[in-house]
Amino acid sequence: MTRRRHIPLLVMSVALLTATLVAGCGGGRRGDGKPRVAADIVPLAMICREVGGDRVEVEVLVPPGSSPHTYELSPGQVSFLSRADMLVLNGLGLIPWEESLPSRVGRPDLVVVRAAESVPNEELLPAVSEWSEGQGEGEAGGPRGSETYDPHLWLDPLLALRIVDAMEEGLERVDPENAGYYRERASELSARIASLHEEVLRRTAAFSHREFISFHSSWSYFARRYGLRQVGVIEELPGKEPSAGDVAALVKLARSWGVRAVFAEEQFNPRVAEAVAEETGGEVRVWTLDPLGDLGDPRKGDYCSLILYNLEIMEEALR
Ligand SMILES: [Zn+2]
Repeated sequence: MTRRRHIPLLVMSVALLTATLVAGCGGGRRGDGKPRVAADIVPLAMICREVGGDRVEVEVLVPPGSSPHTYELSPGQVSFLSRADMLVLNGLGLIPWEESLPSRVGRPDLVVVRAAESVPNEELLPAVSEWSEGQGEGEAGGPRGSETYDPHLWLDPLLALRIVDAMEEGLERVDPENAGYYRERASELSARIASLHEEVLRRTAAFSHREFISFHSSWSYFARRYGLRQVGVIEELPGKEPSAGDVAALVKLARSWGVRAVFAEEQFNPRVAEAVAEETGGEVRVWTLDPLGDLGDPRKGDYCSLILYNLEIMEEALR
């Protein structure tokens, strides 16, 4: 009897407390519920989900199977964006329209996390269009523009660690009440990524071939970290098909390096990759990698699984 009488009071104080918390958020939360995060690409959405756990709602803008280089936003996504508390962008020109997103969202209190900004310039690699004759070598000069650096940072686990830190900081700004929760999850994720790095080091060291050709420049950072060599790319700019002359040059390059693997990608048509492999002849084969993953696919639905999924294919291809 006495217990029952206390319930309405308890409910009221919880309601009051919630109202106070929501009002006190400051950082940019809108109304009740979880912070809403829009992430441009799947791997960054993965990192955000892993740090944010069940306390954030994460929407990915470029869906699995689409290429960030060519994707256009749907009206539903534009409407999610208008309600987002935080925006996660890769940067470095990966998505042509993404730099205009913060102003399209139009909220002064929007928290924007840019993955590329968590990586110092000296750790960035030049974009393919900046490669010198030797391909893959050389320094990117000039200002940090969208076309100067290679944007595929997340595929290097050690750079991903920096992205985890940036993600944690962003979530703490949006939702300071849960800062401890985010900090703990970020440090757990960082520990998993650090041991993933050790595993990739060990397994790549056992590869008997280290050179490959890839569809576009997605594996540059991964290759640098693990002593592999992306000797050439089929499409310098995604969507720009190589000419007959480009294909002939690639075939020559593949032969001179003794390349045995051409890495196609799930997001692109493998036809040209097959043509390059065929013309090179010998033991060259096409393997399909997935640099982006899929939140709904357990084989590559979180950051570490995504790297291991690709590692397994590379292991098979370069053994
Ligand atoms: Zn790409």
